[in-house]
Amino acid sequence: MSEATARPEGCALVTGSSRGIGAATALALAGDGWHVRVNYRSDRAGAEEVVAKIADAGGTATLWQGDVAAAGDIERLVEPGDDGPVLVLVNNAGVRMDGLSPQLDDEQWQTVIDTNLTATFRATRAALPKMMRARFGRVINLASVAGIRANPGQANYSASKAGVIGFTKTVAAEVARRGVTVNAVAPGLIETAFTEDVLEGDMAKAIPARRVGTPEEVAACIRFLASPEASYVTGTTLTVDGGLSA
Ligand code: NDP
Repeated sequence: MSEATARPEGCALVTGSSRGIGAATALALAGDGWHVRVNYRSDRAGAEEVVAKIADAGGTATLWQGDVAAAGDIERLVEPGDDGPVLVLVNNAGVRMDGLSPQLDDEQWQTVIDTNLTATFRATRAALPKMMRARFGRVINLASVAGIRANPGQANYSASKAGVIGFTKTVAAEVARRGVTVNAVAPGLIETAFTEDVLEGDMAKAIPARRVGTPEEVAACIRFLASPEASYVTGTTLTVDGGLSA
């Protein structure tokens, strides 16, 4: 294996992996041999199911409760443990609290920014020193097409995801020479609990692929970005949207 593709000992942390895209990502990374920290805030049963599925498939994973929006929690989630340092960090946990901007209140703004953007910053800040020391690291941040183009009713969410994209580019440039890559994935409409209330009627007609995406289709892209083979891909945002933003 060349220096560019060697992989040192460590683990993967997927925030918000009790269901949806995070759960599919945890399974995919475990399938690549990573020990996965399955993080959840309140959905313990969902997270336990993910850990069990990973074990059934021959992988290893542990449960990590913690609210990423709480400063102390996110630092604890990233701390090195028996499973080694976090060398793959997937900042996936996210929330939306929609409303037209004149009606958005401070709590709707702050909760979305804290969960989607500030947590991404804090987790990345905590993980980077160990990654740089190992000369290997993969940070993958969940953005959204809403961070690239207008989505009325989601000013807070759009701002958080556009922030994630800007953050990703700048950090990628800061750490590129240390063997650490930082990328974002921007899903379009993916069938999860997150979109349950909007996936109605003929929404798929607006998508060139004429269908919504699956969590597994997003996880496959994250899996690639986390792999040693993606060593020369950094600072990019990969859209996974069936052509929605094309
Ligand atoms: P889900 O709502 O299905 O899952 C969200 C996960 O995040 C859950 O495991 C939830 O666990 C966890 N979570 C939420 N808040 C916190 C918190 N404060 N601390 C820890 N965990 C938390 O969402 P998706 O899988 O659909 O979305 C995942 C990511 O993808 C998000 O960042 C979202 O913005 C992004 N995305 C999704 C799209 C879609 O169409 N689905 C489109 C574009 C982007 P718990 O219930 O325990 O809190």
